[in-house]
Amino acid sequence: MVDTGLRVLIVGAGIAGLAVARSLRVAGYRPDVVERHPAGPVAGAGIYLPGNALRALRELGLAEPLRPFGATIDRQVFRTAAGEPLCELDVAELWSGVGECRALSRADLHRVMLTGAGGAVRFGIGVTGLVPAGEAVDVSFSDGSAGVYDLVIGADGRRSTVRDLARLGGPAKPVGQFAYRSVISGAPGPKHWTALFGERAGFVAMPMGAGQVYCYAEEAVPPGAPAPQEPLCRFRELFGGYGDPVPGLLEAAEKVAVAVIEEVDIDRWYHGRVVLIGDAAHATSPNLAQGAAMALEDALVLADALVTTGAVPAALAVYEARRRPRTKWLLAQTRRRDRTRDLTPALRDPMIRRLGDQIFAGHYRRLLPPR
Ligand SMILES: Cc1cc2nc3c(=O)[nH]c(=O)nc-3n(C[C@H](O)[C@H](O)[C@H](O)COP(=O)(O)OP(=O)(O)OC[C@H]3O[C@@H](n4cnc5c(N)ncnc54)[C@H](O)[C@@H]3O)c2cc1C
Repeated sequence: MVDTGLRVLIVGAGIAGLAVARSLRVAGYRPDVVERHPAGPVAGAGIYLPGNALRALRELGLAEPLRPFGATIDRQVFRTAAGEPLCELDVAELWSGVGECRALSRADLHRVMLTGAGGAVRFGIGVTGLVPAGEAVDVSFSDGSAGVYDLVIGADGRRSTVRDLARLGGPAKPVGQFAYRSVISGAPGPKHWTALFGERAGFVAMPMGAGQVYCYAEEAVPPGAPAPQEPLCRFRELFGGYGDPVPGLLEAAEKVAVAVIEEVDIDRWYHGRVVLIGDAAHATSPNLAQGAAMALEDALVLADALVTTGAVPAALAVYEARRRPRTKWLLAQTRRRDRTRDLTPALRDPMIRRLGDQIFAGHYRRLLPPR
């Protein structure tokens, strides 16, 4: 029988935390949610959501509220750094029957998810201590308060404090990649999601509605290299020689955020009554834009496991067993995608011209069926 009186704490009000809060509230639970950052708009430029993310949002009942935001992406166009055609992928066809692909602002996605979470989030509060106490966990918070919970869900991202406190694995590891992100207005962008492949670097631009273009660019670097101090200068320097539509976008860019890309690959996702979801459990390079989809799917599976098993230990075992093969496969695909980027253009570009549509569709093959 489902015990909706279970005392559940969700740490982190990002995509994973808000999705699991909604799933659990819909199932009748009343979780507490804490978020370290103060209330307000989230940082980060845009986000690209492939079809399986929209399928999960639909199951959460959030696809309709999101519809007014961003732009649908039907096609991916791949080019050389100079802008010559390599191949195209019909993503509307690839994800047909699953969900549409969308590019939108992170702030819009977060707002819709926060409303959808349907309950108060305690902002400005982090978790500072977790101590197992029989079939419960004693939790301390950064504001000096404390609580006792039957289940603690660590949805606190790739540098998860919950992962550290529960000794579920070491720190996130840099993969040797910087990512540059910018939302640009006032410059002609591409009609479709468009990627230009350079030497150990690449630039993606996509329409996100209202005359805005979301740009995501990456640069391979030695793991552990420090991020550039002047991201906008480095962004312009790195991609200055690229073909259309890059020059106009670089000129119009006002602000660029840089991120050091890290992976989380750990042996266990739960210990006792503490469990990890989303990036806290399995962050990867964002080159396949699957982080949000995996976080949303985790949330749905964990809530379903709690409802169907009716017991925390059994639910956590079911959750990890169901999710691990899919996220492991995805991690391998993201590494493969980085290796393809890092081939010399002389070797890579003819291969992409011949086989690119099959290679790129293949990166998503196992994600087409439901989680
Ligand atoms: C450069 C870049 C580009 C990306 N692009 C895409 C994309 O286009 N599409 C896509 O699907 N994915 C993309 N991703 C990946 C995606 O952003 C993540 O996979 C996704 O945000 C994971 O969600 P999450 O909720 O698990 O973690 P997060 O989004 O990191 O959320 C964690 C939350 O927990 C809070 N928190 C942290 N510690 C504590 C604590 N101790 N106590 C309380 N709260 C805490 C944080 O403030 C945060 O709000 C990208 C990632 C990067 C770095």
